[in-house]
Amino acid sequence: MITRRHFLAGAGLLPFVRLARAAPQRVVIVGGGWGGLAAARHLRALAPGLEVVLIDRQPAFHSFALSNRWLVGHGDVAIESHDYAALARRFGYQFRQASVAAIDRERRVVVAGGQALAYDWLVLSPGIRENWAAWQVDDAATVAELRRRHSGAMVAGADLAGLKQRLANFKRGDLLMTIPPAPYRCPPAPYERAMLIAWWLKTQKISGKLVVIDPNPIMPAFRSILLDRFKDQITYLDHAKVRQIDPARRTVSTEIDDIRFDEAMLCPPQQAADLLWQAKLIRPEEGGQPSGWAAQGAADFRSPADPRVFIIGDAAGLVSPLFGYYPKTGQVAHRMGFSVARQIAEQATGTAYPPVLPESVCHVTSSVDPLENTRIETSYRLRGDGFLLQTVKQTRDPNPAGEDVAWAEAMYKDFLRP
Ligand SMILES: Cc1cc2nc3c(=O)[nH]c(=O)nc-3n(C[C@H](O)[C@H](O)[C@H](O)COP(=O)(O)OP(=O)(O)OC[C@H]3O[C@@H](n4cnc5c(N)ncnc54)[C@H](O)[C@@H]3O)c2cc1C
Repeated sequence: MITRRHFLAGAGLLPFVRLARAAPQRVVIVGGGWGGLAAARHLRALAPGLEVVLIDRQPAFHSFALSNRWLVGHGDVAIESHDYAALARRFGYQFRQASVAAIDRERRVVVAGGQALAYDWLVLSPGIRENWAAWQVDDAATVAELRRRHSGAMVAGADLAGLKQRLANFKRGDLLMTIPPAPYRCPPAPYERAMLIAWWLKTQKISGKLVVIDPNPIMPAFRSILLDRFKDQITYLDHAKVRQIDPARRTVSTEIDDIRFDEAMLCPPQQAADLLWQAKLIRPEEGGQPSGWAAQGAADFRSPADPRVFIIGDAAGLVSPLFGYYPKTGQVAHRMGFSVARQIAEQATGTAYPPVLPESVCHVTSSVDPLENTRIETSYRLRGDGFLLQTVKQTRDPNPAGEDVAWAEAMYKDFLRP
């Protein structure tokens, strides 16, 4: 039988493990999104004696915030990109560009880029993956081709530039957009994107139609604008679920229709990123079927399998029998990273930090002409008996004054700006 020790020795990795273990206590963070970057930045501030190593397979962070407006050129907004190497220098953590292929929790090492790196605490913020198998697409080559030609750009911010170019090239025909079944990343984002694209088709006089396939109940703030005001630009298929896709015929099938498209933003069902499946950190559901999302504490984000491992951000799984999941937003991921930094700093330094819970504010553009924003505030409270309560407040703002840009800037100040 090949043990993990044999595997590491065979791969020439054990010397790295030993050398690394001689170093000061180390936190390894996998994933440089909102969650991982917040954890890295706050750990350095709260526990300067710890070594903090951020690993991401990409060279740079790309934010999704404000991207829907940017895609169609509404207002003078930019999307943020930052090289990890520069952020690491700015905040004093280390960065390694590599793909983490395996986690050996017994030996407390991650294997990335052919090297093993030891950790004392491990923070996993690897984001999401798309479940193309749910659409009967199983081979990697077809998935890669579909993503290249028709990605909805919801997994990696680096895909946004390609989508913007495809939209600019779209001159006529049917533009398909699929919305994933809940839970998925940034719940209002597809509705905001649909509204902005409809506005763009109308104002640019493009003789195309946006066809939206939505398996969820439509978000109330967008109901009349998507179904009535833009009825010449949008065909909205609600409670419709994609069953299959035929890439050659550019056709998706629901239970009822086959829908042909000329261009598409395909967003299949979402799940926690691959790494959490490889590391067996996915929450099993009652019937024994995998839930698709991670298992972690609702308030401390620790893995029940290992108290030195934290799972944060969009990959996080069920937290409540009442409301299910935390909203998969950048601000929630950031707040989880901040919370985990405090918990690790407390263990490492002995300084007590009161616990913090997630919170999220979304400023969604719900109408362009006339301009209107919808503010969605989500907050949490732990009752005395440990029960987690969620409060969601939605406010329509018919007179916005750049609150979305101000919100993004306030967030970026915390983990990106000097
Ligand atoms: C269109 C759109 C608009 C949005 N707008 C907003 C908004 O206005 N406000 C807001 O709060 N949220 C918004 N969001 C949601 C927000 O982007 C996500 O909630 C956030 O990115 C989640 O952060 P994360 O750290 O969990 O994951 P991610 O940001 O996805 O980061 C995961 C990182 O892990 C890396 N990774 C994964 N696996 C590995 C591996 N094995 N090895 C090495 N690296 C790995 C990836 O390369 C990636 O960089 C929006 C999302 C979309 C799609």
